[in-house]
Amino acid sequence: MPDSVPDQSLLSLVIPVYNERESLAPLHAEIGEVAKQLPWRVEILFIDDGSQDNSWKVIRELASHDVRVRGIRFRRNFGKAAALAAGFAAAGGQVVITMDADLQDDPHEIPRFLAKLDEGYDVVSGWKKIRYDPWHKVFPSRVFNTLLSFLTGVHLHDHNCGMKAYRAEALRELHLYGEMHRFVPVLAFARGFRVGELVIHHRPRRFGYSKYGWKRFIKGGLDVITVRLLTGFTRRPQHFLGAWGLGFLAVGFFGFLLLLLNLMVRLLDPQAGAGVAAQLAVLIIAVGLTLLGAQCLLTGLIAEMTVARKWFANEPFSIAETIR
Ligand code: UDP
Ligand code: MG
Repeated sequence: MPDSVPDQSLLSLVIPVYNERESLAPLHAEIGEVAKQLPWRVEILFIDDGSQDNSWKVIRELASHDVRVRGIRFRRNFGKAAALAAGFAAAGGQVVITMDADLQDDPHEIPRFLAKLDEGYDVVSGWKKIRYDPWHKVFPSRVFNTLLSFLTGVHLHDHNCGMKAYRAEALRELHLYGEMHRFVPVLAFARGFRVGELVIHHRPRRFGYSKYGWKRFIKGGLDVITVRLLTGFTRRPQHFLGAWGLGFLAVGFFGFLLLLLNLMVRLLDPQAGAGVAAQLAVLIIAVGLTLLGAQCLLTGLIAEMTVARKWFANEPFSIAETIR
């Protein structure tokens, strides 16, 4: 976010663009229609994320006729999260709405997002309840949403919906990198912002192609773990790693105890107790778990040191209000 105070009567639309040449002019026209009915001034910020299809030329063309249009062009493709981050940093409005550039999100939903924010939310996330995407995208997305809601306690149907509305205060504290755009509601909630959900109208893609293939599910799955840690244990990694470490050590210790007991039994009666194979198995497991436990604890310590130096580039708290 810019350091300057956000403009109270300005709505910023932040639109990441990667090879969406054909969609940009119709999208701009639709936004123009909606903007006429809004009590806000509007700026339309296109972030060209390294398109190779002349999207930038179209954006320049639109900007030459419409002063509300602004543009940022990346030197290469940095990904949607980076495009959103650049848009957030440049946006000057008190409210920011993000939407995809491919005409799948409907600008006519903008007034409903504003009304929902007015109900007292800081972030409103769209829910494509009836979704016009192929099943091989919709089904894994359901699994992703259920898992993420369960793990984080932020119960949304469509965490990764491209259409979302934010108050400027919430944006200022969101730091998106990698592919963290999928976790905006979780990250905002973790900082104490009020997150709401709004059913929106979704449309099939008319031009171009989806930029995300099956790999999204592997990356998204890995990021679920990262986000769970970042939002739950970032400031106290040892509570997570250390707890597992202690668990492993305890089981390993129990293994050694069993071996010792077995040894004593055999000293008293050489015929009794477990055989060599069983003893060997217990020994291997006990040694393995002890090493693993120590590994977890030490990694936790190093993580704690990193955290102590800097917590996630954020303040370790989020202030809602101050008096004087
Ligand atoms: N996008 C982007 N950078 C990328 C990939 C996608 O800016 O590296 C933009 C893309 O142009 C679109 C939005 O992110 O405006 C969503 O992408 P897409 O429609 O391909 O995703 P899907 O709807 O298939 O989930
Ligand atoms: Mg799309």
